[in-house]
Amino acid sequence: MVRLALFDLDGTLVDRQTALSDAVTRLCRSRALSPDAEHWLRIELADRATVDDFARLREAFGLEASAADLWKEYVDLMSSTVTCRPEVIEGLTRLRAAGWTIGVITNGASDIQRAKLAGTGLASLVDGVAVSGDLEIRKPDLCLFELAATRCGVSLTSGGWMVGDNPGGDINGGHQAGLRTIWLRGRPWPDGLPAAHHVVDDVTDAITVLLNESE
Ligand SMILES: [Mg+2]
Repeated sequence: MVRLALFDLDGTLVDRQTALSDAVTRLCRSRALSPDAEHWLRIELADRATVDDFARLREAFGLEASAADLWKEYVDLMSSTVTCRPEVIEGLTRLRAAGWTIGVITNGASDIQRAKLAGTGLASLVDGVAVSGDLEIRKPDLCLFELAATRCGVSLTSGGWMVGDNPGGDINGGHQAGLRTIWLRGRPWPDGLPAAHHVVDDVTDAITVLLNESE
């Protein structure tokens, strides 16, 4: 029997906020950016980052470097800064050993999300990855969930689980994809969304739920 577990990346498997803060600090030092530019970056990149943000940065602050160069440096900094805690790596390793198929489904630009997966060592632990930038579709779009399952070599019709921190994208998206869901609490829960099957404080607790699952 196939057991599929899909995981969100940012705020679920990795702590994007800490990595973002460090990467912005290092980028601003490297490029000698003004405090205003640094403040701008911290606000504009808070939820996600794309090369377009660096085109706007360049325009707003009259920078000479190309948007592509700034973006590349940012991607390199993020991939070297972001970490996945050892207990999360260990948990995923145990899931695999228990026969689970593991996928990552994430909203973001393809290059940076894949650089983060490689930089954290997660890439070698997952069977398939679907990044919204691959197809320009975002969670909760069912198509991205279907892509994640296909890249894991399975079908959503066999069921499975979705683990994430975003009520709409991860939990409602997973629900609409016919998956059972585990929510990492933190954000406010919007009215009207179906409840997650489990609510936990940390992704390692979610992995424990899956390991205890005896379907
Ligand atoms: Mg997230």
